[in-house]
Amino acid sequence: MPIRVAIIGSGPAGFYTASALLKDCPNCEIDIIERLPTPYGLIRGGVAPDHQTTKKVANKYEQTALMERVRFYGNIEVGRDVSLAEVRGLYDAVVLAIGARSDRKFTIPGADKPGVYGSAAFVGWYNGHPDFQNLDPHLDTSGVAVVGNGNVAIDCARVLMRSPYGRARTDLPTQVIEAIDRSPIHEVHVLGRRGPADAAFTNVELRELGVLTEAEPRVRAEQLPSDVDAALAGYEKRERRVRQRNLNTLAEYAERAPSEKPKSLHLEFFASPVEIIGDGRVEAIRCERTQVIDGRAEGTGSFFEIPCGLVIAAIGYRAEPLDGAPFDEARGIIPNTSGRIEAGLYAVGWIKRGPVGVISTNRPDGQQAASHIQDDIPPEGDPSKTGHQGLEALLHERARRWVCFDEWKRIDEMERIAGGDDAPRRKFVSVDEMLNALDNDHPEAADD
Ligand SMILES: Cc1cc2nc3c(=O)[nH]c(=O)nc-3n(C[C@H](O)[C@H](O)[C@H](O)COP(=O)(O)OP(=O)(O)OC[C@H]3O[C@@H](n4cnc5c(N)ncnc54)[C@H](O)[C@@H]3O)c2cc1C
Repeated sequence: MPIRVAIIGSGPAGFYTASALLKDCPNCEIDIIERLPTPYGLIRGGVAPDHQTTKKVANKYEQTALMERVRFYGNIEVGRDVSLAEVRGLYDAVVLAIGARSDRKFTIPGADKPGVYGSAAFVGWYNGHPDFQNLDPHLDTSGVAVVGNGNVAIDCARVLMRSPYGRARTDLPTQVIEAIDRSPIHEVHVLGRRGPADAAFTNVELRELGVLTEAEPRVRAEQLPSDVDAALAGYEKRERRVRQRNLNTLAEYAERAPSEKPKSLHLEFFASPVEIIGDGRVEAIRCERTQVIDGRAEGTGSFFEIPCGLVIAAIGYRAEPLDGAPFDEARGIIPNTSGRIEAGLYAVGWIKRGPVGVISTNRPDGQQAASHIQDDIPPEGDPSKTGHQGLEALLHERARRWVCFDEWKRIDEMERIAGGDDAPRRKFVSVDEMLNALDNDHPEAADD
């Protein structure tokens, strides 16, 4: 008997686990169960639409999905269509690779006003994630505040500030392109509580802001550290180099001559949001000026307001608990020891470690889970575990429509065709649209 493994979630962590199992566990059969009809998690729904090279990592995942020992069950959510207990009853080992899909709560007064969105929702909207297609963000404003100093904050700002020409060449959904193109936004403020030396942007992302055709990055020279060594003292050597590069880029922006570009992207540091102001909807964000003392941002008692009609809180992601698995509310993860929750149940990726790290950070998680599975599960597997046969029987019984990998490839092809010559693809943005397209897409019968 093979060892039957279910991987729940088809983001990077899920695929690195599948790939490690294929390599190290010749007796494993792997079923990947994914709540959306589309695979790849945040590669499709998070990574910026103008960063297509980054998304190419999905080509590797596709090779894994096409291996004979791997099956894909898209449009099946564990906790909705099948329970975790049922999946565990069908498989020798279950790997939770469900990521962290919600926003960390933005709790300042007024943060519940219409016009305030978390970045998980805003990014999900512009990336065509079906969960967020009714977001209808308030783009009828000239000013935007993006709270946060990481790459996600920069992604949100850049997507809003790109030229219509640039946006049309991304895989943003058509209605998103139209909504942003129509919007009068011309000032975006990216707000960091701490100083420029502490910003978590990577330098490539920061430099991209300097080559936007319609928007100029604006940095105030007086916010840059006069003593760079002191500002970087708390960081290790490698980190210091990255941050030094950022400071150089920011200094270059601060020195730029006034430009003719119609839009401005302000990088505002030492600004801690304290309240969202507005009657009925957002009109401004009130901030307290901070100073960094011993690595901590402390309020100075001086306040200022930035007029804006849209606030995006890019302050981090949060995982949701899954029925049948333990959950550590404080840390927002499934408690585990090096990926093992208990024998037969494992966690990888953001649900294991929390929402930090880049795509490749998930790879060792997959290797670790594969190695635990080999240690914990007898090589002959448990004959009572029926794996995909049991799963399919259950799904049939409940009339659940799953999307197999071949069907995803048809969705993929239709999206690429819809992108035409200029765009990488135009995404379907609802599950119904995808299923209807599949059901109506009958390959022409040969007429000979
Ligand atoms: C906005 C954003 C941009 C990013 N850009 C980059 C970048 O440019 N470069 C980079 O290196 N890293 C980037 N990252 C980080 C990278 O995306 C993550 O490290 C990685 O996606 C985490 O992988 P994961 O598999 O743990 O989670 P995810 O990618 O979130 O995958 C989880 C999968 O599980 C599925 N799922 C959830 N619950 C269930 C359930 N109950 N049943 C079935 N399926 C379920 C989800 O639909 C999803 O497909 C970015 C992250 C974000 C948020």
